[in-house]
Amino acid sequence: MPGKTPRIRLEGRFGELLDSGMRMCLLDVETSFHSLRKSVEGIVGEAASTLFFESGFRGGANYAQALVRNRAMRADEAGYRQAIREFSEGGFGAFQIRELDFAGGRACVTCREPMAFEAYAALTNHEVRKQPVCDFTRGVLVGLLAGLSQREDLGGYEESCRATGAPECVFRIDQEEVTRSAAIARNLSRGATPPRRP
Ligand SMILES: [Zn+2]
Repeated sequence: MPGKTPRIRLEGRFGELLDSGMRMCLLDVETSFHSLRKSVEGIVGEAASTLFFESGFRGGANYAQALVRNRAMRADEAGYRQAIREFSEGGFGAFQIRELDFAGGRACVTCREPMAFEAYAALTNHEVRKQPVCDFTRGVLVGLLAGLSQREDLGGYEESCRATGAPECVFRIDQEEVTRSAAIARNLSRGATPPRRP
C-alpha cells in the first residue's frame, strides 16, 4: 500500500532535484500548470491533448528505461507497479492498477483521491470539461509501460475523468490501434492519438 510519506529519493546540488540522475522540479499545479494548458489550448485547440500526451509519453518511457538501466527498476510487472507507485509519490495523484497484463501490453489504471493533477488543475479553476483532460498523465501511464516492455505500439485513452464530473479518472492502455478505435467509439476525440514515432 502507498505510504503517506514520499519514498522517492531525490538528490542534487543546491538548485536542482535529481531522481536517478534526471532533473525534476516542483511546479504549482493550480496556476502554473493550468496556465500552460490554457495557453497551449488557446493556440492549438484540441491538439493540446496530443501535445500533452506526447510529452508525458516520452517522459514516462525515458524514466522507465533509465531506471532499468540503473538497475533501480525491473522490466516486468513488478517494475510497472513500482513505476506507478513512484508516479503517485511524485504528487501526480493516487493511482491504482485495476488490471495489468504486462506481456500483453494492457492495463487499466484509476485515480480517485487525491485526484490526478490535471483534473485538479481544471476543477480548482472551476472548469468542468466536456472531454477528459488528463492527457499528460495518460501519456506517462502508457510511456512507462511502453518503456518497460520495449514496445512502440501502445496507446491509451481516458475512459472517464474527474474533470468531467466522473467519480474517478480511468485510463485504459492497449495496442494503439485498439485504444484509438475505442476512443473514437466513445466519442473521446481527445483520446484518439495519431500514430507516433519515438
Ligand atoms: Zn482525468
